[in-house]
Amino acid sequence: MSEQTETGALRLENVTKIFGQGSNQVRAVDDVSLTIQSGEFVTLLGPSGCGKTTTLRLIAGFEFPTSGRLLLDEKDIANVPPNLRPMAMVFQSYALFPHLNVFENVAYGLRLRKMSEAEIKEAVNIVLHMMNLVGLERRNPNQLSGGQQQRVALARAMVMKPKLLLFDEPLSNLDAKLRTQMRIEIRRLQQRMGITSVYVTHDQMEAMSLSDRVVVMNHGKIEQVGTPEEIYQRPATMFVADFIGRANFVETDVLALDGRLAIVDVYGQKVELACSPEIRVGQKAYAMIRPEAINLSSRTSDYMADVKTAVYLGNSVEYEVEIEQNLLKVVDYDPTPGVMFREGSFVSMTFDPERSYLLPK
Ligand code: ATP
Repeated sequence: MSEQTETGALRLENVTKIFGQGSNQVRAVDDVSLTIQSGEFVTLLGPSGCGKTTTLRLIAGFEFPTSGRLLLDEKDIANVPPNLRPMAMVFQSYALFPHLNVFENVAYGLRLRKMSEAEIKEAVNIVLHMMNLVGLERRNPNQLSGGQQQRVALARAMVMKPKLLLFDEPLSNLDAKLRTQMRIEIRRLQQRMGITSVYVTHDQMEAMSLSDRVVVMNHGKIEQVGTPEEIYQRPATMFVADFIGRANFVETDVLALDGRLAIVDVYGQKVELACSPEIRVGQKAYAMIRPEAINLSSRTSDYMADVKTAVYLGNSVEYEVEIEQNLLKVVDYDPTPGVMFREGSFVSMTFDPERSYLLPK
């Protein structure tokens, strides 16, 4: 087996973290079990307070679980203090040493390991090169832009060759354009180094673009673990469907089932939709229809909708249309020049069943 496949596999077994006591008790992490493969990039995603930071801090050793086990390469790490865990963390605040220059910031951990000067120089220069920081070695952090500081923080983590790289919302302080650029750099670097990574964010675009798998959390629990495609196209719950992208939910009856396909009635139209394994015949369910799965046209059909709002955004047009007293979000990502439905117009509506999904009510 290669060194890569032997290292950095992480397992959380029924991990719970309770803060406070009595009526002030908060179950920040609630019976979370998760296996992260060696070399995998996994993101913990969820709204504020869902427990993602606490989960990361438990992995890092800054917090201890109330119950449950954490295993790194099948070894229980409960009693290993944070500084002795083979992990490195990149923080939102960069956390660079202000009095040390770029080279010394990156070299810091290697000096603690008592490596020779020649080895340190070689290792630091390799990561500075990888992070496009060559030429900035002698600058102090206050002479760097936010993006450059975050690159130094990343270089400082990478140079240690950790088994596990932990990221706590590292891009939140950067502007939108730089965030997108850094996302690409982090992904490229992680794939090249093959270091198992756990990344915390509340930004779904960040999670989708960086991750092999995304863990969606809510109220301390895992709602779903899946690839970006799985969580977007086949959300396990309405919470996931609503949190990842935008979704319309249309209440419907399940008329028949054929394996993982259900026949349902959506606005009088019988359609076949892929469905959650929990769906049963005869129950009420929700058809999740993404805004981009709905098509509007000026033809006349049985499914006519009222255009309530129409917003032109250049590369797309966003509509809200009303049908049978439901307001649906619609996005046209390929608007034909000159063809935009005006507010107050009456349009024909169809939707693509292949890009929709049936969830239990
Ligand atoms: P955010 O995106 O706002 O950082 P989060 O998803 O990372 O949120 P956590 O920081 O893990 O959420 O917090 C989960 C819950 O635990 C919250 O209700 C929070 O108030 C609570 N909590 C976190 N740390 C502590 C603590 N040290 N003492 C008491 N409660 C805490």
